[in-house]
Amino acid sequence: MWCDLAYSLSRGRDRTLSRRAARFAEVLKAARDDTPERRQAQLEKLADAMSEGNLIEVFDISGKRLLPRTPSPPDFPWPSLSVVAHEEYSNLEYRGRTFRLLKSPARLNPQFVIVVAGQLEDNRNMMARFTTGLIWATPVMLALSALGGYFLSRRLLRPVAQITAALGSISIGNLSRRLATSNAGDELQRLAETCNEMLARLDGAVDRINRFTADASHELRSPVALIRTVAEYALRNPNIDSVSKDAFEEILAESVETARLLEDMLTLARADAGQANKAFEPVELTELVADACARLRPLAEAKDQTVAARTVGAPAWTSGDRADLRRLFSILLDNAIKYTPRRGRIEVELTATASRAVLAVKDSGIGIPEALLPRIFDRFVRADPSRGEVNGTGLGLAIAKWIADAHDATLSVRSSELEGSVFTAEFQLIDPTRTEPA
Ligand code: ADP
Repeated sequence: MWCDLAYSLSRGRDRTLSRRAARFAEVLKAARDDTPERRQAQLEKLADAMSEGNLIEVFDISGKRLLPRTPSPPDFPWPSLSVVAHEEYSNLEYRGRTFRLLKSPARLNPQFVIVVAGQLEDNRNMMARFTTGLIWATPVMLALSALGGYFLSRRLLRPVAQITAALGSISIGNLSRRLATSNAGDELQRLAETCNEMLARLDGAVDRINRFTADASHELRSPVALIRTVAEYALRNPNIDSVSKDAFEEILAESVETARLLEDMLTLARADAGQANKAFEPVELTELVADACARLRPLAEAKDQTVAARTVGAPAWTSGDRADLRRLFSILLDNAIKYTPRRGRIEVELTATASRAVLAVKDSGIGIPEALLPRIFDRFVRADPSRGEVNGTGLGLAIAKWIADAHDATLSVRSSELEGSVFTAEFQLIDPTRTEPA
């Protein structure tokens, strides 16, 4: 752009000089047959009319100036005259200024040479002003276009960000959610629709897996219950021999474990299928915790463990499902007893403030390996069997986590293999006389 402007200005200047020379050539031609005095008078008239900013001289073939009265400074260095065949442009310095000079032949008989000079300062000033303006304007324009580009791209990418955020919030638990679609008929609409179709397929597939797990667990309950009953019946026989007794006792223990595993699988399959959604009611937590402690205390006593229960700030009302919450507390307490050696200590503490209640189940047991902690609430996760642990399904904590999530509670764990574990569940409390959270 800068070069274009510089070129146009210099072309414009040359064209002006050429036009002026041509007008003198016309006068010379018209005055061909006039006397030298009349010709000079006409040339001077034209020179007076157009001299502003320009210097003009006409030379005859002998080098004589025909316009000595033109307002050109007397010391202006008119070029030494030579006959020119065609227009010749050159630059010339005079008193610190640059002039553009055109020598143009007027092919008459005799021949004349018209010399027109014009200052280049105007062009230079204009270019200097333009350059300064460009230097100031370029960073501003760049900043403005960068800002414009940023806001434009943000606006264009906002729907993509919304799709990304919506997809990020969808997991196996809420596969029935769908992305909002527009009717813009563009690529983004097609993307959202394709994502929704994919979600529908995934939803269907997960649904089928859940149903199969639930059906299989349900169907297997009866045969396992039958095995257990038969084993119990056989063990009641007073004449049973010791080998058969051992075998039936093992069958009984395994069938009890298998029945528990099936129950847990059924619980989680129903939870995944969304069938576990129940109407919540106000539940008092201290009472439930005391109840769980009372029911499991015999297990602890059988291992000579002490169970210390403490409540701060009762009553603590939350909105929830009583049976599920009781199960959550039982899982935590049962694990604390199971994974704490004989004569260990278990502390259960419920601390309630106006809006929150925190249940901490702390044991002095074997702890959980650090590498396992991030996955401890996943399904079928159990620590290394070489730790000589008691039997389990690896589903208890997954169920506890699901119950906590369903109650908007947070369930977390701190554990060290030297000091034992602390499982913490934090609940939002409500005012039982109102349905709103406190
Ligand atoms: P289960 O106890 O039936 O194996 P859980 O899901 O309840 O299944 O627990 C998963 C694993 O977490 C357990 O196998 C055990 O290794 C570890 N764990 C759970 N609670 C404790 C605890 N209080 N102390 C040490 N390890 C624990």
